[in-house]
Amino acid sequence: MQTYPDVKLFINGEWRDAIGGETIPVIDPATEEVIGKIAHARKADLDLALEAADKGFKIWRDTAAFERSKLMRKAADIMRSRVDEIAFMMTREQGKPLAQAKMEVMGGADTIDWFAEEARRTYGQIIPARFSGVAQMAIKMPVGPVAAFTPWNFPINQIVRKLSAALATGCSIIVKAPEETPASPAELIRAFVDAGVPAGVVNLVYGIPAEISEYLIPHPVIRKISFTGSTPVGKHLAALAGKHMKRATMELGGHAPAIIFDDADLEKAIEVTAAAKFRNAGQVCVAPTRFLVQDGIADRFTEGLIKYARSIKVGNGLEEGVTMGPLANDRRIPAMEDMIHDAVSKGAELKTGGKRIGNKGYFFEPTVLADVPTSAKVMNDEPFGPLAIVNRFSHFDDAIEEANRLPFGLASYAFTSSVKTAHALGRQMEAGMLTINHNGLALPEVPFGGIKDSGYGTEGGSEAVEAYLETRLVSQMS
Ligand code: NAD
Repeated sequence: MQTYPDVKLFINGEWRDAIGGETIPVIDPATEEVIGKIAHARKADLDLALEAADKGFKIWRDTAAFERSKLMRKAADIMRSRVDEIAFMMTREQGKPLAQAKMEVMGGADTIDWFAEEARRTYGQIIPARFSGVAQMAIKMPVGPVAAFTPWNFPINQIVRKLSAALATGCSIIVKAPEETPASPAELIRAFVDAGVPAGVVNLVYGIPAEISEYLIPHPVIRKISFTGSTPVGKHLAALAGKHMKRATMELGGHAPAIIFDDADLEKAIEVTAAAKFRNAGQVCVAPTRFLVQDGIADRFTEGLIKYARSIKVGNGLEEGVTMGPLANDRRIPAMEDMIHDAVSKGAELKTGGKRIGNKGYFFEPTVLADVPTSAKVMNDEPFGPLAIVNRFSHFDDAIEEANRLPFGLASYAFTSSVKTAHALGRQMEAGMLTINHNGLALPEVPFGGIKDSGYGTEGGSEAVEAYLETRLVSQMS
């Protein structure tokens, strides 16, 4: 039986304890047992990481793009070869079923490969000059050392996008990985180390998130910030980055609408949206939350969603046949209970679920609420748990108005067989991502990001690479 490891900091090419010797315990959300500990970085450790990232940047910036690409692809292969061990660690620390953990590891390797290819295509431009003998060149240079802050819901996936884009462009990076789910991110870093990435290029720290961000963001060595997490924290960090004139990518909260029209393929709409809702116990920033269903199919859709929710097998993610694990930490239980209680007290109908399962492990019933008034908290705040809201609408305009009502604008879903409706949705939906009649989100080659309070910048597609590059002019007379 594989055991869960203690996790160290990785600074300047070395796995090391914190200078002060402090540690933080790691808890298995399925059993509430302490399964390991991580090294807790303070300022003295961060100073070493900054020094290393500064040195690593100079080495990596001057490493040929083809060489960077080659090392990245090697890291992806290493990840694939270790999928079973890494997925086991992820399930123990985060709770998700082993099959989902394996998919995340393999998806991470795929993301590294995609960015490795882009590493070879960070083209500049030659701009025709007004005078003969002048060459005007717009060249692309890496922005510099990056500070990346990532959450616990997808321990690898949240880091791999930032890490891969940074390394593809020639940046070095300090990753502040999630303290709740530290071991699988450490394995991601180990894959790059074993692939031969030079010391200082990649650094990994854990500690108190606010203490680390307040120290790294203003620090002159750091040139770019990338954060994934909640909107309030994102706004705070974006302000700090702005104050210090640092580039920033912010991937924040969402409250995704899923609009199901009368003319939709009902079975497919249920299957796709329910799977997207309950995956990872609903702790997904792009999970559909407000199901807006047109009158003609609302009853049948609701029945289908309830049936799906009741068919989910909740349990320890290491057990065979389990399709939903526990919530990832104890904070989510009262958060869910409070939202459900508030919605029901305001007139919502609890169709299924609604409470914690047992009293050991953070298990929660897949929940469906119907006819939820706009005044309910859950209609306005991200539930970040296995909770779906089904409300009805009659006309296209009403659905769009409700979909766009919130300050969030991350993911959105729609099901319709009308090309005209699909086209109108594409233009009117205020969301960074819209997927129609299937779930086409989160592939490395397509944009991934939000608008409005869901943040700015994208972590997929060619723009994700641009975010780590500066355009500079060199105008040269021969
Ligand atoms: P939280 O707001 O305390 O933390 C969210 C994330 O931000 C965590 O990873 C945390 O380590 C980090 N963080 C918090 N304060 C920070 C700071 N000052 N500097 C740097 N990083 C900081 O909440 P939580 O209880 O961990 O999660 C609850 C909410 O966070 C959810 O309801 C959801 O809205 C949001 N969340 C979003 C995502 C996402 O993928 N966008 C992931 C996890 C959590």
